[in-house]
Amino acid sequence: MPTPTRPAIYARISRDQAGEGLGVLRQLEDCRKQAAGLGWPTPEEYVDNDFSAYSGKRRPAFQRLLDDLTAGACDGVVMWAPDRLTRQPRELELFLDTAEAAGVQHIKFVTGLAGVDLASRSGIAMLRIMGAMAADESAAKGERVKRKMLQNAERGLPHGRSRRPFGFDDDAIAHRPDEAAIIREMAERFVAGESLRSLCTDLDNRGIRTVKGAPWQTHSLRQVLTNPRVAGLRAYKGEVIGQAVWEPIISDALHRKVLATIESRRVSGRRTPRAYLLTGLLRCGKCGGTLFSARREDVRRYECRSGPDHGGCNGCTVVAGPLEELITDYALFRLDSPALADALAGRDSADKETSALGQQLAQARETLEYLAEQFGAGEIDRREWEAARRPVRTRAENVERQLAAVTRTDALTGLGTGDALRVQWAQLNFDRQAAILRTLITTITIGSGARGAQRFNPDRAQVTWRL
Ligand SMILES: [Zn+2]
Repeated sequence: MPTPTRPAIYARISRDQAGEGLGVLRQLEDCRKQAAGLGWPTPEEYVDNDFSAYSGKRRPAFQRLLDDLTAGACDGVVMWAPDRLTRQPRELELFLDTAEAAGVQHIKFVTGLAGVDLASRSGIAMLRIMGAMAADESAAKGERVKRKMLQNAERGLPHGRSRRPFGFDDDAIAHRPDEAAIIREMAERFVAGESLRSLCTDLDNRGIRTVKGAPWQTHSLRQVLTNPRVAGLRAYKGEVIGQAVWEPIISDALHRKVLATIESRRVSGRRTPRAYLLTGLLRCGKCGGTLFSARREDVRRYECRSGPDHGGCNGCTVVAGPLEELITDYALFRLDSPALADALAGRDSADKETSALGQQLAQARETLEYLAEQFGAGEIDRREWEAARRPVRTRAENVERQLAAVTRTDALTGLGTGDALRVQWAQLNFDRQAAILRTLITTITIGSGARGAQRFNPDRAQVTWRL
């Protein structure tokens, strides 16, 4: 990139900085050195001497700088730090828009963003974050208690607490190996398709209790499995901000899968245990509506229903038992086929995608950690922190969703082949069987049956395979 021909220095001083010895003269001196170091010609100097940029008072030099950028009378700017430019995000936007419209690519800082390339999109994004953080610094006072907690969080130290967390000793750092093993087992089974309810029942049958000595309930088990601390992550206000000082009990990848599984079950609105194996998978061959489970004359059925809650045609009914047997047979055959082996081999590419997404997630977490540090150091207040982290958190959530999509073959891990698979299937619990079918199958369309037919006609079921 060529050097600018008409560069500028922008400096600003306000009352609070004067007392810290960061006078305008020092800013100017540093900026001049920076410009010289970059090999720029001697810059013109724009200096505002207001007492507080935050008061929103008009700053003539800033306005003149914008005008000169627009007019092409200035094609590069050196500043001491982003918060010298402005403390108001609105003004920062104005500056960035002006520089962008004028095609100005040379924007340099002495400190703060010295290494950031502002010609790049990410550099501009970083500047916006810094600007948001610099905004309203005065409101950062009176946050000492929260700051102390945050500093603990940053160092990865546990909060003060009245009861140890399940899986950990009283210091909340050392593992209890027996409980850690339970957490690992529960997380793996949950991701593989078992419900929290059935896991709680199993823990109860084995005589395993919570830290309080109470039987497990779905909410307490969910709380343990989704807690970032079991993955060795430190959270603050529900947000992961970095690695903890303790060792993880489950891997980061498994932790993400647990969260993704919780999320996907919430999306599918499954609140009660699934009563029928194929619920949600069946479609009416006449109207395309979803078939619902029902019991008629003591025979379990799936049927198309009309009415506002269902919206089907009421024209399709199928007896559940024989259909479930047929689909299970299909699925076992499918699980044992070379076609599926090929599809699962596609996991290689999925694994690559997973690793790329994992990196994106790590980056987002780094940014969150950085923002939390700024808050902890009192550089930004709570409102700024929340404003700056919101887009980053949204990005992290999107990445987590994508991760969930590429890791949904987890229900199939650990399955055998041939006769062993059939034996194994019979021993799997209902949740796991249902999860496997949902992994393999997108939909099953049920065609109409002959009136008064005594036996289920297998040709009525058309399976659309996912894998
Ligand atoms: Zn229908």
